[in-house]
Amino acid sequence: MAQYQDHMLILKSKPYRESDILLTLFGIKSGKIGAVAKGAKRPKSRLAGIYPLSYAICQVYHGRSSLDTLNGVDLVDGFPGLQKDLSPLSWALLLADLVDEMFSERDPAPEVVPWVIAAWDRLQQEGSNLTTSLSAGWHLLKLAGYLPQWETCEACGEIPRQSPVGVDWEHDVMYCSRHLPSSSGESRGMEISLGGLLTWQRWMALNVTKLGNYEAKGIIGDQLFFLFGRYIERHIGRMPRSWQFVREVENMAGKERNRLF
Ligand SMILES: [Zn+2]
Repeated sequence: MAQYQDHMLILKSKPYRESDILLTLFGIKSGKIGAVAKGAKRPKSRLAGIYPLSYAICQVYHGRSSLDTLNGVDLVDGFPGLQKDLSPLSWALLLADLVDEMFSERDPAPEVVPWVIAAWDRLQQEGSNLTTSLSAGWHLLKLAGYLPQWETCEACGEIPRQSPVGVDWEHDVMYCSRHLPSSSGESRGMEISLGGLLTWQRWMALNVTKLGNYEAKGIIGDQLFFLFGRYIERHIGRMPRSWQFVREVENMAGKERNRLF
């Protein structure tokens, strides 16, 4: 039972009791926690104004309850640009949902925080939201322990040199164009272009300061979007609601990614 301070992502909030707010936070030191911000719905509360998709120094009390109590908050970055347009907002919410879904409570994973901050920051700027979000999303998957071995062919051990390649999201392996598995029964993977595979590999090799590099354009963007969705669905079990939001916003923007589904 103790009071502690941590730099934390504010992932989610929802009303709780009459005047409280229930928050999902992710701290550098503490990992994911649930915390109650008591009285935060009252306009004069010193906790009023705390909102999701922000980053703050939080004073938290950990007692007997599984829920901690938020006692103080100093905003570090509110990422205001995320609220200006549906596209960055939808992607930023998806990343918040993924962190919430993939990590257990009180299991620290400090590297998550810089990836999310870098993604939220880039989403406020000009650039490809899909590229920023999917590459950050794959790094979050990696930090959660998911890292497909999509480097060499499972059958011959060689590095693929031509399209298409077969990526298997069930067993986390891949196949070159000469050893594509016959598609029978339940789908366990898909064929993507060599360019799609190379883009994914470049993303996985990125340092967090280079997030947003190697833009996935056109059909490569479509393929990597679809692949990410299927991978999440297979390994996380259910799709966060924000994934549907992302798809709707992408479709509104005329990206027509639905044709792949
Ligand atoms: Zn092969």
